[in-house]
Amino acid sequence: MFDKIVIANRGEIALRILRACKELGIKTVALHSTADSNLMHVKLADESVCIGNAPSAQSYLNIPAIISAAEITDANAIHPGYGFLSENADFAERVEQSGFVFIGPAPESIRIMGDKVSAINAMRQAGVPCVPGSNGVLGDDPEKNKAIAREIGYPILIKAAGGGGGRGMRVVHSEEELLNSISLTQAEALAAFNNPNVYMEKFLEHPRHIEIQVLGDGKGNAIHLCERDCSMQRRHQKVLEEAPAPGITQEMRDEIGGRCVQACKDIKYRGAGTFEFLFEDGKFYFIEMNTRIQVEHPVTEMITGVDLVKEQIRVAAGEPFSLKQSDIKILGHAIECRINAEDPKTFMPSPGLIKLFHAPGGPGVRFDSHIYSSYTVPPNYDSLIGKLITFGDSRATAISRMRNALDEIVIDGIVTNVPLHQNLIRDTNFKAGGTSIHYLEKKLAEEK
Ligand code: ADP
Repeated sequence: MFDKIVIANRGEIALRILRACKELGIKTVALHSTADSNLMHVKLADESVCIGNAPSAQSYLNIPAIISAAEITDANAIHPGYGFLSENADFAERVEQSGFVFIGPAPESIRIMGDKVSAINAMRQAGVPCVPGSNGVLGDDPEKNKAIAREIGYPILIKAAGGGGGRGMRVVHSEEELLNSISLTQAEALAAFNNPNVYMEKFLEHPRHIEIQVLGDGKGNAIHLCERDCSMQRRHQKVLEEAPAPGITQEMRDEIGGRCVQACKDIKYRGAGTFEFLFEDGKFYFIEMNTRIQVEHPVTEMITGVDLVKEQIRVAAGEPFSLKQSDIKILGHAIECRINAEDPKTFMPSPGLIKLFHAPGGPGVRFDSHIYSSYTVPPNYDSLIGKLITFGDSRATAISRMRNALDEIVIDGIVTNVPLHQNLIRDTNFKAGGTSIHYLEKKLAEEK
């Protein structure tokens, strides 16, 4: 096992990684920007290193500074968390070339999955069902592109091969809009992702977002840890997640999970990963793979009892895989609400001083967060300040525990989206389960 791990992230996930390290008896090094010296995990880590100024480009994305920090602290491995450099294949490569272990998949796996077109091709080969589409990057022959779109059938979606974070997508309803939309998306993709390649997919009109959590040991062994439903989204960003997904039978889970596991075995996938699918009319369609730990991983931990971050670390250290597929059982139901420092109506970020914080509690309540009374949320980063997770023997219990927890939590001084979640958890259609990815936006528009 490692002696010392560098945590190359911030906020709640940095604290989550620190907790896993402490449980495993591993020393920790917290890296932070000048705006983040008051972060909870920085205070709790064995050592900390300031790696640069507040803008992420100068700190959390500053590869030479991160590698130097690992060198001067004599660490063995680097955990990238999610976001920032977690899915940057060049970073993973630099980490390994510098003699450290990257806690994540091999750089080649990140590279294949980081390009959505090569990911889809790899999945097709492994027998994973994909959205009907162009089967590759669009060329510059207008007639050919029109023919591809006609074949798929409108509406279609133009997507950037290098896209992420819900950006770089455009819906096209008719042939008249097609060529212009392709050029616009290409230009945007070049500017945003430094990669002008785009492809086409059938635009599914009322899908759910269901994803499969996997773990691989990098030696050809892999398991899946059931699915999560992340259909509650705003602007393609997840707001609330749950596991298992309402209405998914054990038979469906075994089938789609089995295909994901086979794909992991084929590429000797190492570490934690997620296969994201759209689910419509009883069918799964692969859209992308995330080669990192995800924000919503706790709901899977709650229903399976597996600590995914500890497993990531164990696998990266080369320890033998202790889990078998038959060990994975669904123990109950879990829900996660993403608590953001933002206005619940306008969604404007609201950083600032938290004057008073009171954590909710009781059976089946977990709050993964770095905030505390007198902590100031800096304006420089993502607005996620915590994840409230509830677990129960049934979905109804998880919902009522979440309702209580949302009513108990106090975050005073800044505005948060807790009222949005209080509204959502009481929503009749949410309570029924199985709403589509468009549900939340429609609800918000109606309430306006
Ligand atoms: P990103 O990497 O930006 O998250 P994804 O490919 O995962 O991009 O898509 C993000 C979201 O966009 C999905 O969760 C879904 O809401 C929507 N989406 C993606 N592909 C389609 C599609 N073919 N039809 C309808 N909606 C889609």
